[in-house]
Amino acid sequence: MADSVTDRFLRYVVIDTQSDAKSPTQPSTEKQKNLGRLLTEELLAIGVSDAHLDEHGYVYATIPATTSKNNVPVICFCAHMDTAPDFSGTDVKPQVVRNYRGGDIQLPGDKAQVIRAADHPVLKDLIGHDIVTSDGTTLLGADDKAGIAEIMAAAEFLITNPDIKHGAIRILFTTDEEIGRGVDKVDLKKLGADFGYTMDGGTAGTIEDETFSADAVEIVIKGVAIHPGFAYGKMENAVRIAGAIIDRLPKDTAPETTKDRDGFIHPTGLSGVMEKANLSFIIRDFTEEGLKAKEELLQKIAQEVMAGYPGSSYTFTVKEQYRNMKLVLGKHPEIVDYAVEAISRAGMEPVRGSIRGGTDGSRLSFMGLPCANIFAGGHAFHSPLEFVSSQDMEKAVKTIVELVKLWEERA
Ligand SMILES: [Zn+2]
Repeated sequence: MADSVTDRFLRYVVIDTQSDAKSPTQPSTEKQKNLGRLLTEELLAIGVSDAHLDEHGYVYATIPATTSKNNVPVICFCAHMDTAPDFSGTDVKPQVVRNYRGGDIQLPGDKAQVIRAADHPVLKDLIGHDIVTSDGTTLLGADDKAGIAEIMAAAEFLITNPDIKHGAIRILFTTDEEIGRGVDKVDLKKLGADFGYTMDGGTAGTIEDETFSADAVEIVIKGVAIHPGFAYGKMENAVRIAGAIIDRLPKDTAPETTKDRDGFIHPTGLSGVMEKANLSFIIRDFTEEGLKAKEELLQKIAQEVMAGYPGSSYTFTVKEQYRNMKLVLGKHPEIVDYAVEAISRAGMEPVRGSIRGGTDGSRLSFMGLPCANIFAGGHAFHSPLEFVSSQDMEKAVKTIVELVKLWEERA
């Protein structure tokens, strides 16, 4: 009998795959390959005969086409094997709350860790579900081992049901997504896919085709330094100038005061002495115009503050970080349209979402593999309160199956 998606998930989360931003290697931690090796073995065992782990720790595999049509696009399903460095991923002890009856969930390993229904309104939609959590002393790793388990379960289902018509399907499991290096060494030529989906979103039914567009801004201020005892009318303290710039930032355009589709200006670093100060910012918005407007505002604030310090000077440097993947996905509307239809066919109400951040999918989109993000079912990512419903993971498996059928039907 086939393993359930939950059996798979429980097997994968106990393998520590935490990535490490301070490591220069790829994968950043050798232990990520332990999961890669297991996944490769399991893929080979279910009959995915070209499955292999490469030297960078990626797993590549192909489910061959079953259709006689020769114009079905090759679709890639992608998930990441690493877990976030934010919280321990060592010795994960998953717990299953069967047939959840509502209310708070007390985690057994740490009395202070309670998944409160008031903080996680999605719980009221999960009554009757089997909910997987950690014991509260580690994260769970549903981000993104739920996505891995779903792709694996869908692969097994498709291999054992060859009567289901679909084109060639490529599987890609990456390392180091959580430290922003997930696709650095991906060989897109070898992958050979036309379109892709990351299984790395949250709530069941969501499909995301937008990310922030992102720039960084660096302001360097040169002040006028002088002995404080002789400073009258002469000193222009770069630390004070930097403080004045921060003070004038609009309070309603900060990460802590914006949500949904509003962007922000976020000071991320401040260092300095009297003669020189450095200010670092990240700027985020869903549109190019919004991004530019925020940078112009920041530039104007800097100019106005500097006008009060005639002996001082400053530089203002904008560095592009990443762009909204909608710019690419908008040219291939069928990627999202089919996902929306597959989600409905799998019995859910599709919800379109935007990601307040970047993803591997957005980078893949700009590297040449247009890639939207589908829910994997997890919640409270990167924390000891992380949880995922078994039934939602099953819905994700069903979504993958419906999606590959759709690509074949419409070709
Ligand atoms: Zn993730």
